[in-house]
Amino acid sequence: MTPAIAIIGAGPSGLLLARLLRYLGDIPSTIFELDPSSSARGQGGSLDIHKETGQCALEAAGLSSEFQKYMRSEADHLRLTDKTGFIHIDEETPGEGRPEIDRTQLRQLLIDSVPAKSIEWASKVTSVQPTPDGRFQVILANGSQDPRRFDFVVGADGAWSRVRPLVTDVLPFYSGISGMEVRFRDVDTTHPEISKLVGQGSYFCLSDEKAYFAQRQGDGSIRNYAMLRAPENWIDECGIDFSNPQAAKAALVERYFDDWSEANKDLVRLADDDHLIARQLLMLPVDHRWTSRPGVTLMGDAAHLMTPFAGEGVNNAMVDALELAEKMVAALRDGSAGTMQENLAKAVKEYEEGMFARIQRVAHDTLEGLGVIFTKNAPLEFKEMMERLRAGGHDL
Ligand SMILES: Cc1cc2nc3c(=O)[nH]c(=O)nc-3n(C[C@H](O)[C@H](O)[C@H](O)COP(=O)(O)OP(=O)(O)OC[C@H]3O[C@@H](n4cnc5c(N)ncnc54)[C@H](O)[C@@H]3O)c2cc1C
Repeated sequence: MTPAIAIIGAGPSGLLLARLLRYLGDIPSTIFELDPSSSARGQGGSLDIHKETGQCALEAAGLSSEFQKYMRSEADHLRLTDKTGFIHIDEETPGEGRPEIDRTQLRQLLIDSVPAKSIEWASKVTSVQPTPDGRFQVILANGSQDPRRFDFVVGADGAWSRVRPLVTDVLPFYSGISGMEVRFRDVDTTHPEISKLVGQGSYFCLSDEKAYFAQRQGDGSIRNYAMLRAPENWIDECGIDFSNPQAAKAALVERYFDDWSEANKDLVRLADDDHLIARQLLMLPVDHRWTSRPGVTLMGDAAHLMTPFAGEGVNNAMVDALELAEKMVAALRDGSAGTMQENLAKAVKEYEEGMFARIQRVAHDTLEGLGVIFTKNAPLEFKEMMERLRAGGHDL
């Protein structure tokens, strides 16, 4: 018997799980996604997909060749500077296993890998309710109760998961880091000096507990995240009018980056006026875990939201999908004693135990990354951490 499976969220983890269940076990699922369509919303910047995690999960899903069509190995380049413009690291490392892919392309290739009818767009889930027969019902934002009953529900719906309350009361909290995202479209023609400064990969500039993370995108544009340590209410109370891009860029530079080199200041103040996002970074506790509950689990940011400072979020979200799919497929093929629900519950518990142990290490490294980036001694501590991780065999 095949269980009725609902996946909440068509992000990288939810889509990859749906693909893997079909690809490995011919198991169908229904994905509920709040976006009205695949193109309704820009998906944000570029992601580096690591060989040993994200690429491995895509390969297991039969998606390596699709990934290779869009990946950019030349983007595997890091330039690390400080506020004066002094270059601490300038490494061309293509082929070392961390090619970049634009988030929109990754999502689209995953959408194309599942049957179109399995994604229910414009379906914002407000909660998932247990039913008296031990199954689950999905409640949608338009007030409608989806009449279907699901045997198994997976929360792949990101930071503010509506599935998480079924297993824990824990909520994301503020990481202490806020800032602003800006973009340069057609940068080679409009701002060749910015193009040269950033190069083809990532440009990190770290000083005085502040940071720029600028990245080349697949369409040739550059995105820069200017981030700093700030109080939780900084976006509302710092006095910068983020609805007025020109004023916001000037104010941010004047107040927080005034002693940075002119070239670095330009990396905010010359950015396009039609793209400015104030950002506040949230996280779940490093040791976040819950007591397993039959019929429900979480993946990706819903399970282990972390700051992006080790570039692990999406990679581990995809490993979650792989490990969960493998265990579910094995459990549903298991001809030994036990009902389908019992076998599934055992498989999910095993997935969760493995995921908790893996994520605890990653979340710890990410927190350490935040500490060495937003410190007074920033470029040097960050460089030392990279060298230490490499000496320990990490592929950076
Ligand atoms: C600024 C920034 C930069 C980052 N950079 C990197 C990086 O370089 N490398 C890296 O590995 N990670 C990075 N991350 C983290 C990475 O984006 C996430 O870890 C990853 O997207 C998690 O995937 P997910 O599928 O779990 O969740 P998401 O990508 O959040 O997808 C969740 C999906 O669920 C949908 N959804 C949400 N709520 C509902 C609802 N109520 N009903 C229905 N659908 C819903 C959403 O619309 C979305 O499609 C970054 C994050 C940020 C904020």
